[in-house]
This record gives sequence, structure tokens and C-alpha cells, in this order.
Amino acid sequence: MSTSYDVVVIGAGPAGYVAAIRAAQLGMNTVCVDNWLTLDDKPALGGTCLNAGCIPSKAMLESSELFHRAEHEFESHGLSVGKLELDLARMQKRKAGVVSELTGGIAGLFKANGVASKTGTGQIVDSGKVKVIGHDGDEETLEAKHIIIASGSVPVELDIAAFDGDRILDSRGALEMDEVPKKLGVIGAGYIGVELGSVWSRLGSEVTILEAVDEFMPVADRGIATEALKTFKKQGLDIQLGARVTGTKVNKKSVRVEYTQGDENKSETFDRLIVAVGRRPNTANLCAKDTQLELDDKGFIDVNESYRTSLPGVYAVGDVIGNPMLAHKGMEEGTVVAEMLAGQKPHMNYDVIPSVVYTTPELAWVGRSEAQVKAAGLDYRVGQIPFAANGRAKAMGEQGGFVKMIADANTDEILGVHMIGPYVSELIQEIVVAMEYKASSEDIARTIHGHPSLGETVHEAALAVDGRPIHFPPRKKK
Ligand code: FAD
Ligand code: NAD
Repeated sequence: MSTSYDVVVIGAGPAGYVAAIRAAQLGMNTVCVDNWLTLDDKPALGGTCLNAGCIPSKAMLESSELFHRAEHEFESHGLSVGKLELDLARMQKRKAGVVSELTGGIAGLFKANGVASKTGTGQIVDSGKVKVIGHDGDEETLEAKHIIIASGSVPVELDIAAFDGDRILDSRGALEMDEVPKKLGVIGAGYIGVELGSVWSRLGSEVTILEAVDEFMPVADRGIATEALKTFKKQGLDIQLGARVTGTKVNKKSVRVEYTQGDENKSETFDRLIVAVGRRPNTANLCAKDTQLELDDKGFIDVNESYRTSLPGVYAVGDVIGNPMLAHKGMEEGTVVAEMLAGQKPHMNYDVIPSVVYTTPELAWVGRSEAQVKAAGLDYRVGQIPFAANGRAKAMGEQGGFVKMIADANTDEILGVHMIGPYVSELIQEIVVAMEYKASSEDIARTIHGHPSLGETVHEAALAVDGRPIHFPPRKKK
């Protein structure tokens, strides 16, 4: 078998597998090296996203939401299902099945596109040389014209709450629990905290989330963050802001967490504790001792606008080069770097990357928040329409949430759209396309949306930017 390639990709997560497939499509002889092992020590492609992130979390969010709906909403539809029971083992098995079908799918895509796949840890030993250390200790050296690092990220660990795989869990462990903890603590009210907190809360846990910062979800527009906090609290998530964890003590069947909030010292005992305080770049053992890769002050691999690292012929994409740590951002960077290597001139638009939080209601946004637009000193107009004014939402029993559109007051170009409500993870895609084409709010307002559909709320929000919504009273002119 060949050991000389045009491209060696290190890491088969969304950034790496997409880079490898695109490079092969463009005629480059490509190999992808990955060291992920499943919990029963089997190699699996797809990285964090497919094995322990996006996909298993969404499978558990879906199952737990169905459980919650059957328990709390079916009756109002005239549906009686008798005594509802949770079979967590079966739910976990379904999730594992979804994951293995998708990770197997990547292997199929590699084959179909002619990407070679190697299992083991890739280490750059020199420009153009990658040593692959197999899980069995066997070593092989690959030669490459180009090396693409896509080694991803790993959970941040707190010294005062070290992961033990039993009482104190990272996000991977939090997706694998085999019983519903009666009391669940979560440190960090970010994406993972609210998504996984929601999963276990719907399945019956009493969930407390301790967040160090005083503001809830500072990355989101204040409008949707405020509405989300109110709704999550109503659902029973006990979200404590400004709560700084100072220590933990693990007992046989519980973990005690000490924290300060304002001037008060507080403590709480949980059956399990999830630590979800962010992720850090995975650069461990990427380079042999005498090969230096420059990192930025946060430990991300430093790259220029062409994804070149400080080592000649070595590129990097995905979580390992920095925020936002999102699968779709990494996938696009993977595509772009492969196309650059093939001599094309692709473009990565960092201004139009959607963010989605898959809670109920979902949160989704793209572009600038109102605070960012204000801080930039721009003149702007806002249109905001609640889902309560939407026929489809009413038929679905989904009355909460809204769509908020921000457009430049002079040019009418859409600057940002922020949504909270049903399936906004899907609705946001229309705005992504619109913003990619630099659409105005009037472009959306003049686009015919199917009736009845949730998308009509996006349409009405665009009309509302100009103060002329049809299915909701317009704002009174001052
Ligand atoms: P990764 O997916 O981390 O993949 C890196 C791969 O490289 C891994 O397989 C790793 O084992 C391998 N590797 C590392 N070093 C080496 C080496 N030296 N040699 C060989 N292989 C190596 N993002 C979203 O966009 N949407 C979501 O809904 C979402 N949900 C998430 C839920 C959870 C619980 C978590 C933890 C994350 C979630 N994310 C989500 C984030 C998403 O998973 C990451 O942004 C994405 O996986 C990053 O892709 P990547 O290819 O850069 O790295
Ligand atoms: P995050 O950055 O989203 O949130 C971490 C939270 O922990 C922040 O609110 C932060 O203020 C808080 N925090 C930090 N240190 C703390 C401490 N010592 N005590 C209490 N709170 C503390 O990180 P995450 O939730 O771990 O997720 C990691 C990344 O994975 C996300 O940033 C995101 O990029 C990605 N992700 C995306 C999705 C999605 O797209 N739906 C879902 C899950 C994860």
C-alpha cells in the first residue's frame, strides 16, 4: 500500500473528513488518520460530533422530548397512552444505533471517494512526514505534499471538579448515563449545559445549573436569551447565575458542590455532576519534540487566512483553530482548505455562520445581535413577531417564542436574525441564504412563504421591520 500521498488529514471529525473527501474529489491522493475509540475500544470515524457530540445529543434530545410530550401534551390532543414508562436502556441503544450508522456512513463515503483511512495517532515528525502510531503500538510513516490538521477539541476540566467517569462527568459521560439521576448538577449554562440539562430534566431529574457569569448566554441576543431563561426556569431547570464553584467532594453515591453567589457561600449535593465549561483545542502529541507548531495565547493553532500554520505545508481547520467551535464551521473550513490546495479560490464567510441551541424552544441566530449593531453605531430597524400570531404554530400547540429581524435603517440589508421557538433550527437556514446574498428585509417580505407554515413568522418579522405586519398589530408610531 502507498505511504506517499498528496494530502494527509489528521482527524476524521467534521472538519477532517470533509477536507479529506473534498481533496479526493479534486483529484488528490488523500489519506485520513484518526484515533477515536468507542467506549468498547473500537475505532470510529466522525470525531466528537458524530460519536459524542452533535449526533448523540440530538438523538437524546429527540427521545426525551417525545417522552415529555407524551407525558404532558398528548392528553390535550385527545390521546391517551395508558401508563407511560421510560426504558432508558432502549433509548440509549437507539442513540448508539444512530451514531454507528452515521460513523459507518463516513467509512462508506471515504471508500466511495477513494480516501484511504488509517487508524491511530498521527504525529508530524517533519515537514511532509506524519508518523502514525496504531492503537496496537505499530508505527508507520506517511509522506505528504500537504498535511491538514483537524484534531478538534476536548472538554475543559476543572481542577476543583476533576472528571472521574462516575460522579463527575464530561459531556461524553453525560450522554451515557444508565439511570436517571434524581438530582443532577451541571456546571456551565452554555450550549451543553442547557441541552443536556434539558435531556435529563425531561427524563425526570431535578436539574440545577451553576453558571459563573451573571448574564445568561452572553453569546446570544439579549431578547432571545431573556426569553429562553424565563422559559427554561418555567420548565423546571434551576439556573443559578453568578454561581462560582469553589470546590467539590465526591462521596460514594453523591457529589457535594460548594459555590459562592454574591456574598453568600452555598452548597448543594447531587447524585451526578456534569462539567460543561467549554472545550479546548486538542494539540496533545500532534508534533514530535523537535517540531514546533505555533499556538495562540488560548492554545489554538495559529493559522493565516489560508489556514497555513507556522510549519511549511501544514494547514489546520476546525475546532483546533478556534471559535466558533461548531461542526458546520469546521466542515466549511475543510472544504475551503482542500479547494485552496487544488488551486481554487474559495471564500469562507465568518459573518454568516448560524448558531443553534437544540432545547425546547430552540434558539437560533445568525449575524449581529442588537447590542453589536448598537455598539457599531449603525442606524437600524427591528421587526419582531411572536409565534403566537402564526396559524401553524397554534395548530402545533407551539405558542411561545418569536422571530426578531434587524436590518440597516439606510440600506435595509439584514444585519442579524434571532429566533426562539419551534424548529427555528430549520427556519434560520432561509436567513443564512438570504444574508449570504446580502438580502434586504424587503427581499424576505416580498418572498411568498407557504401557508400555514412556521416560516410565515420570518416573513411577518421582515414586514414588521418596515412597520407593516399583516397578522400582528403594527407598532404604534411615536
Ligand atoms: P472533532 O470532531 O473533535 O474531531 C477530531 C478528531 O481527530 C477526533 O476523532 C479525534 O479523535 C481525532 N484526533 C485528534 N488528534 C489526533 C491525532 N493526533 N491523530 C489522529 N486523530 C486525532 N456543534 C454543532 O455545530 N452542532 C451541534 O449540535 C453540536 N453539539 C455538540 C454537542 C456536544 C455534547 C459536544 C461535545 C459538541 C457539540 N458540537 C456541536 C461541537 C462539535 O462537536 C465540534 O465543533 C466538532 O466536532 C468539531 O469538529 P472537528 O473536526 O474540528 O473536531
Ligand atoms: P460553552 O462555551 O457554550 O459554555 C460554557 C459555559 O460555562 C459558559 O456559559 C461559561 O460562562 C461557563 N463557565 C465557564 N467556567 C465556569 C466555571 N468555572 N463555573 C461555572 N460556569 C463556568 O461551552 P460548552 O457548553 O462546554 O460547549 C462547548 C462548545 O461545544 C460550545 O461552545 C459550542 O461551540 C459547542 N457545542 C455546540 C452545540 C450546538 O451547536 N448546539 C451544542 C453543544 C456544544
